[in-house]
Amino acid sequence: MNEFDLIRRYFAGRGVRRDDVPLGIGDDAALLTPPLGQSLAVTVDTLLSGVHFAADIPPADLGHKALAVNLSDLAAMGAEPAWAILALSLPQADEAWLAAFAEGFFALAGRHSVQLVGGDTTRGPLSVTVQVQGFVPQEKALTRRGARPGDHVFVTGSLGDAGAGLAIEQGRLEFAGPPADFLLARLHRPTPRIDAGLALRGLATAAIDISDGLAQDLGHILAASGVGAVLDIDRLPLSDELLASGIDRPWRLAVSAGDDYELCFTAPADADRGVADVLDCPLIRIGRITCEPGQHWLDAAGQPAELPSHGWDHFARGRA
Ligand code: ADP
Ligand code: MG
Repeated sequence: MNEFDLIRRYFAGRGVRRDDVPLGIGDDAALLTPPLGQSLAVTVDTLLSGVHFAADIPPADLGHKALAVNLSDLAAMGAEPAWAILALSLPQADEAWLAAFAEGFFALAGRHSVQLVGGDTTRGPLSVTVQVQGFVPQEKALTRRGARPGDHVFVTGSLGDAGAGLAIEQGRLEFAGPPADFLLARLHRPTPRIDAGLALRGLATAAIDISDGLAQDLGHILAASGVGAVLDIDRLPLSDELLASGIDRPWRLAVSAGDDYELCFTAPADADRGVADVLDCPLIRIGRITCEPGQHWLDAAGQPAELPSHGWDHFARGRA
């Protein structure tokens, strides 16, 4: 199988076909027709074997995750997904691997009406780069910079699950059965909160997706907005499965482990009412924005809590 057979067999002409794609895979470039009056939200993420995933990850999970982490960035902007580009570096053309990878990728793409419009395929160490584009009315995009004192801080879903899944995968946490499978699925098959992002247009004052840990990612909102926050550890949404894992102080994972791909956003008090009913994930209020800069985490007794030092940073020493 040569490069062109591979593209034709696994990627060309598959999945949804959108009216705004006059020319997709097969030429030197795709031709795309963005809607008038909207901004294009554009983002890219690379997943490297041994850094972002274990080399023996099920390929369908990798196909899902490579797209999901990008869709999560669109969700954090309040953008509606449209197009994707896939750059693959593969050690060999393993047909079973490619079939499963494509299946995971296109299953998620289909759920969000995303069309794969192009890519690049090379031989080399296993790495997957996905770029996605979506649409958002110009004045409606959710950025990191609009948080105001008095706003509340919310998160979607539950936090710390993917961190516990990683601990299980790496043999640092011994835990098995359906709850462990749930935690592993949260690591390998994150759910991009697209619907939440769309519902929060015009409501949230700032938003980010949680890829590097809540404290670190919320820190980006606070820095960009020039504000601080007081947060309650007690309010952090922890799943039953995370609690069942018996992990010590599970809230520490919720605060500092990455890879959950939930949204963290700020909004005026009670702004979540009304949208909460239309979403398939909970919105939990975990704190409020203050004028005073910095993050102040409080325990159940209202006393300052000590946090793990930081979240994920490729150029620092690594995880706290
Ligand atoms: P060029 O050499 O002109 O850059 P390529 O031979 O790399 O073109 O790719 C041929 C066509 O296949 C292009 O339309 C490209 O976007 C598409 N393509 C290549 N690899 C992939 C892939 N992994 N997934 C989707 N489309 C791909
Ligand atoms: Mg060319």
